[in-house]
Amino acid sequence: WMARARAEEQLLDPLTGLPNRQWLLERIWTALDDAERIGARSALMLIDLDRFRSVNDTLGHLAGDRLLLQIADRLQNALPDGAEAARLGGDEFAVLLPVADSTTSATRIARGLVTALGSPLDLDGLTLVLEASAGVAVFPDHALDAEGMLRRADVAMYQAKRDRSGVEAYESKRDSNTPDRLALLGDLRRALDAREVQLHYQPKVRFDGQVAGLEALVRWVHPERGKVPPDEFIAIAESSGLMPHLTEYVLETALAQVARWREQGLRVPVAVNVSPRDVHTPGFAGSVAARLARHGVPAGALQLEITEHVLLEDPQRAADTLAALAGHGVKMSLDDFGTGYSSLVHLRRLPVSELKIDRSFVARLAVDAEDAAIVRCTVDLAHSLGLVVVAEGVEDDETWEHLRDLRCDAVQGWLVAAAMPPEETTAWLQARGPRGWQRPRAALPAGE
Ligand code: C2E
Ligand code: CA
Ligand code: CA
Repeated sequence: WMARARAEEQLLDPLTGLPNRQWLLERIWTALDDAERIGARSALMLIDLDRFRSVNDTLGHLAGDRLLLQIADRLQNALPDGAEAARLGGDEFAVLLPVADSTTSATRIARGLVTALGSPLDLDGLTLVLEASAGVAVFPDHALDAEGMLRRADVAMYQAKRDRSGVEAYESKRDSNTPDRLALLGDLRRALDAREVQLHYQPKVRFDGQVAGLEALVRWVHPERGKVPPDEFIAIAESSGLMPHLTEYVLETALAQVARWREQGLRVPVAVNVSPRDVHTPGFAGSVAARLARHGVPAGALQLEITEHVLLEDPQRAADTLAALAGHGVKMSLDDFGTGYSSLVHLRRLPVSELKIDRSFVARLAVDAEDAAIVRCTVDLAHSLGLVVVAEGVEDDETWEHLRDLRCDAVQGWLVAAAMPPEETTAWLQARGPRGWQRPRAALPAGE
């Protein structure tokens, strides 16, 4: 029985005592066989805690382990009949429903589990809320084998994290590995070579009307499909290795434009979005500096918008690259603040001079007191660290006024202008002149 006990041990996670990944894989295989034989569905859910990493960083690994134990406990108590839970490692758990009615019912069950995990936890009198995200894959709808089920549940889980939606079921049209995506990738590569990808520019303005800068945003009109949303092709570029090429293209085009504007007496800094991939590419900082020199553009006229995701993979390398860029005089802006892994710990480690509050908070500012409180705290915190705060996605006067009252520094959004092609941007800048952007008269309350 020793041998058997040892074999069983190898299939258990030592911390929580739940079955581990290896056990799960084997279990999925038998579950799929059974489901196939009786013509039933089977569902797999991957569950990941949203901010566990920063809890671990701040409170230490021992506290993290104790939280994981509580989570494992909760998960087991919340399981419906017949369901089986496993721990895949880190803060990742899985639940197998050997028999499931439909994708909808499996998604509903996953939502129940996510809700159960998300209620407040107690750690030595400290109350913590760890939200979770889950992805659901269903046999035979989404995959026909165990590895496929795991992969697809994983794709769905990342989608849920990205959209902050809690739970998502796998959807093939969002998966970057479908043939359709591969075709699009080839087309994008060709479009970059043919210089058919364009940059549009969206102003960031201060409350006194001064134009603080422009953000360069890529635009691609596919010959057959029409406009492809940047989020979509950027995700493809990121998962394929094309990203550095796209970023070079954007930097090159933006810097050439900045040089042209400077010749016309328009001295406006331009922000370029860079992805974590870029920051991890060896030599990135040096290549940016060389490009600035080649265009005769001072480093202060370029800003790079990064997200805190740069710190997830190789924090040390990312920090080195960012420090090198800052050393060259390039300014950095922390984009999408408030989404995903945002943590104050990260903020202090990044050499950024600007923070952009994500559109999702700004949009509900006027109607949601909680979002307003988040924005208020963010502004105060950023100011105490000496950062400039820009709010993204400002669409109406009411939001503009709220942001001004919260002492935000600048806004970007359709209220001021959408992203415009280069010629239109030139005209926009020239028409505003030194006074900058003024809110249309009609929008002001009577008496002002
Ligand atoms: P982002 O960096 O957060 O860019 C802001 C997005 O908000 C842009 O979407 C912009 O058009 C949109 N937006 C601006 N004002 C408003 C508003 O008032 N209301 C609403 N609802 N939306 C507004 P876009 O251009 O579709 O870009 C989406 C994302 O794609 C960007 O988000 C950025 O993450 C990425 N992206 C765009 N261009 C580049 C690029 O050149 N390189 C990289 N790496 N990523 C890029
Ligand atoms: Ca941005
Ligand atoms: Ca953003």
